[in-house]
Amino acid sequence: MQFENKNILVIGLARSGVAAARALHEMKANVTVTDIKSEDSLKSLADEIRPFVVELILGEHPELSKTYDLVVISPGIPLDIPFVKQIEANRIQIIGELELAYLLTDAKFVGITGTNGKTTTTALTGEMFKNSEKKHFIVGNIGLAAVSKALEADEETVFVTEISSFQLETIVDFHCHIAAILNLTPDHLNRHKTMEKYTEAKARIFENQTEKDWLVLNHDDPLTRALAEKAKSRIAFFSLKQKPDEGAFIEDGWIITRLEGKVTPYCKVEEMLIFGRHNEENALAAVLIATLSGLEPQVIIDTLKSFKGVEHRIEYVDTIDDRKFYNDSKATNPDSTICAINAMNTQTHLIAGGQFKGSDYSSIFEVFNDKIKTLILLGETKYTIEETAHKFNFTNTVIVNTMEEAVEAAFRNSLPGDAILLSPACASWDMYADFEKRGEHFKACVNALKVDRG
Ligand code: ADP
Repeated sequence: MQFENKNILVIGLARSGVAAARALHEMKANVTVTDIKSEDSLKSLADEIRPFVVELILGEHPELSKTYDLVVISPGIPLDIPFVKQIEANRIQIIGELELAYLLTDAKFVGITGTNGKTTTTALTGEMFKNSEKKHFIVGNIGLAAVSKALEADEETVFVTEISSFQLETIVDFHCHIAAILNLTPDHLNRHKTMEKYTEAKARIFENQTEKDWLVLNHDDPLTRALAEKAKSRIAFFSLKQKPDEGAFIEDGWIITRLEGKVTPYCKVEEMLIFGRHNEENALAAVLIATLSGLEPQVIIDTLKSFKGVEHRIEYVDTIDDRKFYNDSKATNPDSTICAINAMNTQTHLIAGGQFKGSDYSSIFEVFNDKIKTLILLGETKYTIEETAHKFNFTNTVIVNTMEEAVEAAFRNSLPGDAILLSPACASWDMYADFEKRGEHFKACVNALKVDRG
């Protein structure tokens, strides 16, 4: 596609909108950026983008009487708002930032999507690429917009890309030579409306694949398994329950791939620093993607053994007097906390509570077993969660006011060999700006305790 002298409208002034506008400016397009938010709330981004645009329209949408050759829309903007409908009615092509990145580069794309585990799998796969010295960028939802690196890449480059269902809604020709769908459970149904529509959006990751490409699917998830029928691509399954003919699995504790008849063992699950069944799935997916990308087995093995996980997701923090501390601040709903509880393999003291999001906490106590020794509660929901705990006859609860007190109380109640886990099951906004700040404060408290204890 030619961009020179084209009038292009970028909708949404967030990180990906800025990256798209800058790349289009570099391609000599006439770029207009619009956002419904006011100039005041977008001050620094507006200042950053101004030199690269012919027009910046904030606080309202532009008149469509002026014709645009192309519209680039940010993933956060629903496609059913009247302004987007109007653009469609005017027969102007709408693409997303990912499609734009694809059009601007000859690089190859590895695309990772699914309901849960995208960031972890993308980070682990990305780490394998880093250690292999293959030219690559780690992009997408995980942080950097793909388009921000598109003009630096060449055909030798691989974009290891975390892709959301929203981004897939606005692709046209976008093509991954390796795509992965990790799992599909109900999520974002406020935007996609039904599970069928959500599955369809995710399945778009392979719609432009050919029989030369690979599609990595979770065999244990019936919805992703069924997608194999719809793809033209070659299929590699991963499974914790079976040994697919083509794919990755665990046998006698070993992570193994079997691809085109070749069986390769990597390392034992227990040699990895990340743990829990969900992370075993993420590791299998990453190993498959890396192997199909031609990375050396030794690089994959070394990375599996050294990858510490992604910050705030059951992240190992430190050991103090033989107690291991884990930060799972990203667990902002009961399901994620259950995932963390299931992942723990020692006696655990759980720190939970935060801002109320309308959740029922009963499901957490349904998975409680002898593993959880103490429940330390803080934040807006501390009494609600305590009440639920007592209903389930779990009485070893401690109410605290601050994270410092929570860490101290957990430590006081623990024995050598135990784990202390922050996994709040709630949003963070009652006490922190975001879940990252909460996790960072937890880690600072652990550090302070370590200093205290000499
Ligand atoms: P995403 O980027 O898809 O939100 P993350 O890698 O950030 O996923 O993980 C977020 C949370 O989702 C984790 O803390 C864990 O509770 C849960 N999770 C991670 N991987 C999986 C998986 N493969 N299956 C189910 N749940 C998972």
